[in-house]
Amino acid sequence: MKNKVTSRRKDKTLAICDFDGTVSTVDIGHEVLKKYSGDKWDDIDAAYCSGRIGSMEAYRLIASIVRIPRKDLEAYLSGLNSIDPYFEEFHRICRSRSIDIAIISDGLDFYIEDFLRRHGFPDLKFYSNKVVFTGRDRINIEFPRFNEQCGKCGTCKRMLLESMRKDYSRIIYIGDGYSDICPARQADLVFGKEILFRSCVKAGKECIYYRDFRRIIEEIRDREGSGPAEN
Ligand SMILES: [Mg+2]
Repeated sequence: MKNKVTSRRKDKTLAICDFDGTVSTVDIGHEVLKKYSGDKWDDIDAAYCSGRIGSMEAYRLIASIVRIPRKDLEAYLSGLNSIDPYFEEFHRICRSRSIDIAIISDGLDFYIEDFLRRHGFPDLKFYSNKVVFTGRDRINIEFPRFNEQCGKCGTCKRMLLESMRKDYSRIIYIGDGYSDICPARQADLVFGKEILFRSCVKAGKECIYYRDFRRIIEEIRDREGSGPAEN
């Protein structure tokens, strides 16, 4: 019985995708917080990008300032038509090859959920920070995937990846930003752009540069052959 379980695990691959700047080519979290808090977000974001504060601290600071009128939000989000042009094909190919997909984001749940529903992926599993709307336009942000041992990111992607490792022999990681650096170090195959790619190069971690998901599709086909029917 033990061998059977081991054998199943060995056959399984998981593709972990970052959301902002990755599945969505636009950093929607950045756009939303900037729109509804203006220059105040720029200052907090600058502190985050310089490493002076982690994302959890950035979110705590902005939550007390930002005002997001819920009635405006749906129209605003629906105008951000920013899905990677090859993500749908990537999703189809992964499904045909029994590669599981999980989205792990240090962003906020309300716009990820809205995005996935609008683009036809309502059942795609995602993990992120959680927003609770209070009143007309106030928010609280909760961090169900926070790592107390580190304390930087609202969602610890590395901790999530490690918890998923027991079920998968091979983990592909796809991302672009600061919060992707830690988990990418633990992945078996990394696709990176922007900050993540530069960080991997500097650290000597193998990383394939990608501009969009077409590059990832090509790599999966190269490594695994043409595979089963992909429709
Ligand atoms: Mg990102």
